[in-house]
Amino acid sequence: MKILFASAEAHPLIKTGGLADVTGSLPRAIRNLRHDIRVIIPAYQSVLKQQEKFTLVAHLELEGVAQPVRILAGRLPGSTVTLYLVDSPEHFDRPGNPYTLKQGAVWPDNAERFTTFCRAVEALSMDAAGLDWQPDIVHCNDWQTGLVPPLLARHLPRPASLFTIHNLAYQGLYDWKVFKKLKLPADFWSMEAMEFHNQFSFIKGGLVFADWITTVSPTYAMEIQTSEFGYGLEGLISHRTDTLSGIVNGVDYSVWNPGRDLHIPVQFNARSLTHKIENKQALQEHFRLPVDENIPIFATISRLVEQKGIDLILDIVPQLVKQNAQLIVLGSGDSKLEAGIRAAVKAHPKRVAAHIGYDESLSHHIEAGADIFLMPSRFEPCGLNQIYSQRYGTVPIVRNTGGLADTVTDTTPETLAAKTATGFSFNAATSSALLEAVDRALGYYRQPAIWQQLVCTGMKQDFSWKHSAQLYIKLYETILARRADEAVAESA
Ligand code: ADP
Repeated sequence: MKILFASAEAHPLIKTGGLADVTGSLPRAIRNLRHDIRVIIPAYQSVLKQQEKFTLVAHLELEGVAQPVRILAGRLPGSTVTLYLVDSPEHFDRPGNPYTLKQGAVWPDNAERFTTFCRAVEALSMDAAGLDWQPDIVHCNDWQTGLVPPLLARHLPRPASLFTIHNLAYQGLYDWKVFKKLKLPADFWSMEAMEFHNQFSFIKGGLVFADWITTVSPTYAMEIQTSEFGYGLEGLISHRTDTLSGIVNGVDYSVWNPGRDLHIPVQFNARSLTHKIENKQALQEHFRLPVDENIPIFATISRLVEQKGIDLILDIVPQLVKQNAQLIVLGSGDSKLEAGIRAAVKAHPKRVAAHIGYDESLSHHIEAGADIFLMPSRFEPCGLNQIYSQRYGTVPIVRNTGGLADTVTDTTPETLAAKTATGFSFNAATSSALLEAVDRALGYYRQPAIWQQLVCTGMKQDFSWKHSAQLYIKLYETILARRADEAVAESA
């Protein structure tokens, strides 16, 4: 199959979140299964600075875009996957991250920037760039690519389209004045298309016009059909339930492998768990906490935002302290949450430690040295740290939602007997429900034989990309077969 994978981010070239990790690794896994997948992202200034080996392959005039754009071609780092860059200097040759200035203010012309990107993806999808290559399927990701399915829907014949939601909270909403500037077909502003409560919604383009929709976990695919998680889009999404499914993200075990991880003081595996204790002691030293292998260490590594339930963790600090546990936090974000964490460290310097900031290397060390990972997210499309934690023998406590529900098996007498238990989950997004799970976990922590079983079962879990890539390939085949049937009907 020929697949064009469109995304606003790709690790290691440009990253603000999990979307970049998926773009950096899923196409490689699909390529390894012998499909011709190519990735397309905008030519941000920082991407062009990093890689010199891009060649100019096309000049494109795009409908509604004043200046012609250039298409550059290179490789996705560490792979043989072709990477196309949409080079439109007026839109992408600027500092900062894909969506904001360095100081965090959103670029005022984001709607124009990503409309240009979508127009270019449309052109490549229709083989209008003179590359002599046309995809069978265009795989779009998140709101920045939301206009690709409606733009493609105007062509016949056309490639099939898949739209993946990595986080429904980000939708690309703009008012009428902005919509006018985009020079899109007038009928795009209608309730049946992208209009949403008197705003123009990029994500609605994907939700209405893509041939299929996926989310990054099966549970999140169910949840976004309810008012609790749907942001008012739940009616539309449930209408598409026959063409909606969830595939859990994979993780990159060449980066997250405690047996080979050079970020951690001592490498270890399930047969050398004493080395995990050495990492624990080094972690306690690093954070100037009392060094004692018998003190359970709770940890969290996260963007500090409401979604992640960090406030629930702060609520239970007194109880963790009473239980003689330690808590380590790595993260940055919301200033109120940062202040709350600083206050907890100040109140309990021998019990609570934190690094406010982003530190990839430290995140590996925390995974290796902690005993229990806290992830009480209010919603979680997939989540990665609960998966890394399992591989590092750090037992996760998660809220029973989204990808957390799909990747962690709660510990019960039954799951212990079946040797499937990998962590602890709780339902209500309240500190008392979190505390109840913490107490359950501590009860088992004090029974070393059972705890070791939990640790080892977690370490054996396989969430590699290969499995998820196979699921995507099967889905591409399903979508293509359906599209072929529809195309016959449309041309009749
Ligand atoms: P999200 O994409 O919603 O932020 P995920 O769990 O899917 O959440 O992915 C977050 C990724 O970012 C993980 O790899 C996590 O380890 C990493 N991360 C988050 N905050 C930090 C931080 N402060 N330092 C290092 N890594 C972090």
